[in-house]
Amino acid sequence: MTAASPITCKVLGKMDETCEMKYKVMDSPLGKLEISGCEQGLHGIKLHGGKTPDTGPTDATAPAEQLGGPGAVQPLLQCAAWLDAYFREPAVLEGLPVPALHHPIFQKESFTRQVLWKLLKLVKFGETVSYQQLAALAGNPRAARAVGGAMRSNPIPILIPCHRVVCSSGAMGNYSGGVGVKEWLLAHEGHPAGKVARGGGSCATGSWHGALGNTTSSQPTGRD
Ligand SMILES: [Zn+2]
Repeated sequence: MTAASPITCKVLGKMDETCEMKYKVMDSPLGKLEISGCEQGLHGIKLHGGKTPDTGPTDATAPAEQLGGPGAVQPLLQCAAWLDAYFREPAVLEGLPVPALHHPIFQKESFTRQVLWKLLKLVKFGETVSYQQLAALAGNPRAARAVGGAMRSNPIPILIPCHRVVCSSGAMGNYSGGVGVKEWLLAHEGHPAGKVARGGGSCATGSWHGALGNTTSSQPTGRD
């Protein structure tokens, strides 16, 4: 029983190696947005600017490398068209294709994936959902705190609308891009200024009682 035979150890999870990443930088009212993805789908949207409209015109010096020039792939083009419509002509959004998603988070079954997917499919422009409601939509009403975690790991903000997830108390809750950005996006979608209160930043996602059936967005009728 000496260690004569070598230990076979296969490294799993190398799916990134199949992705030839492309990047596209575009301007938005929130500053530069960097879109990344491969031919198979979108990997991420990054808010580069660090500029929020209500804090004044601070010219962020974002790296404006257009790495994706000639190799622009369909998911990036679709995403850019989608974002352009989102900011400039939201009425046409419903008719636009949503790009395929290929970030590793979407390639294996998980609660996070389920949460992000339901959010993308069910919570539309101008609507909001509470952490608790979203937990229920994803199949586990008690998992509001895990929904908060899923929001923090959302690789594709704006398209996957984590800014529409607010506290059942009416407080705004956190946003990884900054609460100012969340506020701007909600206002852009027509939420009256006072409606979503700017709370202390976080909300008690641990207490889920009484949260359902008591919020602004209508109950979705279909699944997927
Ligand atoms: Zn990929």
